[in-house]
Amino acid sequence: MKRITSARISQLLFLVLFLVLFINTEYRGRDEINGAVNAFFRADPLVAAAYLLAAKAFTWLLLPAVLLLVATALLGRFFCGWICPLGTILDLLGGRFRRRGAPSLFTGNAKYWVLLPLLGAALAGINLAGLLDPLAILVRGLAFSLHPLLGDTTRGAWVGLYRVLGEGRDLLAPGYALIRDHVLPFRETAYPLAFLSALILAGVIGLEGCESRCWCRRLCPLGTLLGLAARFSPFNRRPEKLCADCRACSGLCPTSFDREILQKEECIFCMECAVRCPSARVRFLPGSPLAGEGPLLPQRRVLLGGVIGGLLAARFFRFRDPAAQARVLRPPGVRDEGAFLAACVRCGECMKVCLRSALYPAVLQSGVEGLYTPVLIPRLGYCEYNCTLCGQVCPTGAIPNLPVPAKKREVIGKAVFDRNHCLPFAKKINCIVCEEHCPIPAKAIRSRRVLDTDDQGRQVELLVPYVVDELCNGCGICENVCPVEGKAGIEVFAVKDRTPLREFQGPVPVEKGGDPYG
Ligand code: SF4
Ligand code: SF4
Repeated sequence: MKRITSARISQLLFLVLFLVLFINTEYRGRDEINGAVNAFFRADPLVAAAYLLAAKAFTWLLLPAVLLLVATALLGRFFCGWICPLGTILDLLGGRFRRRGAPSLFTGNAKYWVLLPLLGAALAGINLAGLLDPLAILVRGLAFSLHPLLGDTTRGAWVGLYRVLGEGRDLLAPGYALIRDHVLPFRETAYPLAFLSALILAGVIGLEGCESRCWCRRLCPLGTLLGLAARFSPFNRRPEKLCADCRACSGLCPTSFDREILQKEECIFCMECAVRCPSARVRFLPGSPLAGEGPLLPQRRVLLGGVIGGLLAARFFRFRDPAAQARVLRPPGVRDEGAFLAACVRCGECMKVCLRSALYPAVLQSGVEGLYTPVLIPRLGYCEYNCTLCGQVCPTGAIPNLPVPAKKREVIGKAVFDRNHCLPFAKKINCIVCEEHCPIPAKAIRSRRVLDTDDQGRQVELLVPYVVDELCNGCGICENVCPVEGKAGIEVFAVKDRTPLREFQGPVPVEKGGDPYG
């Protein structure tokens, strides 16, 4: 019978933990999200390295990642064989593929040509690591595609069940309520890039058709980074070569024995060889380096080429369409676009958790550099005045975790009326929908009474709205609720100066007293 190794048990436990954290990265009736739902990202050394290089700063949020890197340098690349949820999924699904062998494009130094340009670009201030980070690929695939699909399908099936079972469906209601409240997404959202996200995840899994853990050993930039750290580990497998009388390891090992000698940086410490060796010869022991082990760093040509390639790519990726920039609204608390792009790992957590479906992954609004970063699209959703969930889940602090009173003052953009669409201007019809919905107690949208002439030449008394810039935080609710079909009569635009609204002092601009943001 096949023995279940400790590594396998650990993999399954971490996969369950990952999924529990994933489904709890969601509004479930509480304003605070408990538990470190972003723990996997905070322990991700690729995220930390790219942040460090791009932002030229350190955040204590990423301390777990530093600890993991140190642990890898001491013990080896155990993360990939014991913890990584994507690696576990590959192991679970990989056995179903008939293997054809790795394409020559992926062999040799390919993995360094993936990792080093990402680090080079980060050095130039462009943080693209999240695009290929395995955890981000997995979370985006689930959050933008599979989880919403599960929600839609289950809700649809529940409705369909009524047609089949009628009132009899009520017997199943407790079970459905349990799934709806604890597993399904809180709301139905269709994300742009959902198909691409699913395709990339499927592509990574599909590589199992080449060889076991093909993504892990040939491409994964996190795995490559951990592999580089693992070269420093004093732990080595003995014997380091395939035994001439057996060679079973070449079939058992998922990653490291595509040559005669163990590739230390690719060994994921899964222990398959130790547990299944027919002669019980295999040991992992601290001691002298492996015979024939290569240099600690990749060849100088690859190292320089990769980093310089990243620096050059960074220049190209910087290009943005200036017109699109005006509508790039970032989550609350983001004040500097450059600092935000350097810190965001494109994990999708903020978009998944957004209470009012306001945040979506950017396609090209912010250039290639901004791909998958969160943008607020007010026509589809708005920033809830009292909500701080995105800041709570952001693993890198790209969106600061602010207390509610401070968050209310953060400026996302400023609302501007479009006189060609807004009803009082364009059609001479009274409308105060935006004013009524504006959450700022002192109202950032107000109306003044004016006498005007309508299309038929009659004199009408109109309530003409205007925005009080000093009070508007750009939450987007006005644009969201505007009853005009298509393009709204009021739109929120990005502003360069995102200094928070000041704490209100001095004369109250309307009849009521107290804090106008209160
Ligand atoms: S190589 Fe990458 S995807 Fe594979 S187990 Fe390691 S970190 Fe996860
Ligand atoms: S801003 Fe959003 S996508 Fe970017 S790192 Fe934070 S949570 Fe992830």
